[in-house]
Amino acid sequence: MEARSAALNRARDHATSWLESLDERPVPARVDAEEVARRLGELPEGPTPAEEVVDLLAEACEPGLVAIPSGRFFGMVIGGSLPAALGADWLTSAWDQNVGLRSLTPAGAAVEEVAGQWLLDLLGLPSGSAVGFVTGATMANFTCLATARDTVLRRAGYDVQTAGLAGGPAVRVLVGAERHPSVDLPLRFLGLGDPHAVPADERGRIRADALRGMLESGNGPTIVALQAGNIHSGDFDPFAECIALAHQHGAWVHVDGAFGLWAAVSPRWREAVRGLADADSWATDAHKTLNVPYDSGLAIVRDADALASSMAMHGDYLIEASGDPQERTPELSRRGRGFATWAALRSLGRSGVVDLVERLARHARAFAAGAREIPGCEVLNEVVFTQVCLAFGDDGRTRAVAAALLADGTTWMSGSRWHDRAIVRISVSNWSTTDDDVRRSLDALRRAAASAGPI
Ligand SMILES: *Cc1c(COP(=O)(O)O)cnc(C)c1O
Repeated sequence: MEARSAALNRARDHATSWLESLDERPVPARVDAEEVARRLGELPEGPTPAEEVVDLLAEACEPGLVAIPSGRFFGMVIGGSLPAALGADWLTSAWDQNVGLRSLTPAGAAVEEVAGQWLLDLLGLPSGSAVGFVTGATMANFTCLATARDTVLRRAGYDVQTAGLAGGPAVRVLVGAERHPSVDLPLRFLGLGDPHAVPADERGRIRADALRGMLESGNGPTIVALQAGNIHSGDFDPFAECIALAHQHGAWVHVDGAFGLWAAVSPRWREAVRGLADADSWATDAHKTLNVPYDSGLAIVRDADALASSMAMHGDYLIEASGDPQERTPELSRRGRGFATWAALRSLGRSGVVDLVERLARHARAFAAGAREIPGCEVLNEVVFTQVCLAFGDDGRTRAVAAALLADGTTWMSGSRWHDRAIVRISVSNWSTTDDDVRRSLDALRRAAASAGPI
């Protein structure tokens, strides 16, 4: 017990000083991965006391940490951690529950069931849907698409679960041209190969007329993957129209909503997400917009039996019960992911979740308005959610601004490419971002643009 307390006390001290440093420290790391590896040193011949190990780890890593939890990190699509979720995450490690089986860890199973129902309610998704707690949206896409594959083949009279893919009918997969690559990777794992890309419009949304043409020009078991939240424009596919078309052709419709599914909690986006709840499966992250610590993805499937049929493991030694968490994820042993998600939802309440999502989008609009005032800066997307794409003249100048911004260190925004142009991309995903963080970050952007010289 003494070693545990000593280690936890040291961890608490390091965690507190890290969190206290966030407001003022530069956002980027001060050293690279090679330097951190050097600082971590060699494997020692013998043991080291627990608290000393915690100190060594914290000291070696500190200069290589990026202030991702600060309110001025806008890279990739990365949320922070709400205080209640962070506290619950610490407890999750201390409790050390293996959450695959209901009989083994009643608390772990119950918290996922309760949080899962709350999520369905908030997101307006069918109440009988199953919710699997996975590592992230990539695995949520995998879990949902595996269930989709098995189901469309079963409907075509082919049992891929026993017979395997070889010799079965081909499965057509149609996706928007601007889907996230985490849709393609699971299709590869699932033996389905490259999907067919349906053209997108200028806002990155799948074109319903093009989808109709492609659905009509083929047949057989079909999966359509749509998107809530384009990583560049933040925009939403036209769900009502596309889902109706896909269902007319007997297709399974999956929605990748890693961060954008959360728009469904607010009336502000009612029209943008109209029809979303008619899909067959949805992938999202709790570790992005909801601000739960990693790793926390959610695989939601309307047909709970279909998900269980694709995911459940059976073994004599497993004390299986219907509704085991392992029936909803591709894993058996795993961390109790529901604790932190429950804590995030419990701390925010219904109105707090809506406020959080609306606040992120309000900051994104403030970024767009502020950026338009910077000489030579163009806002390339209609800012409909939490994402903003900027260009500063030609590609060379935009890249120079991105580099100057990183060197400045006040904020972190990702360089990317969209519609054949270099861009600086802002994703507002952190609960702790304030109006002042937006102002400080816009000041940094203005300095970086000025340093890149005239257009
Ligand atoms: C982040 C993201 C993913 C992948 O999610 P992970 O949690 O990183 O696996 C998938 N789709 C979209 C739209 C994303 O933004």
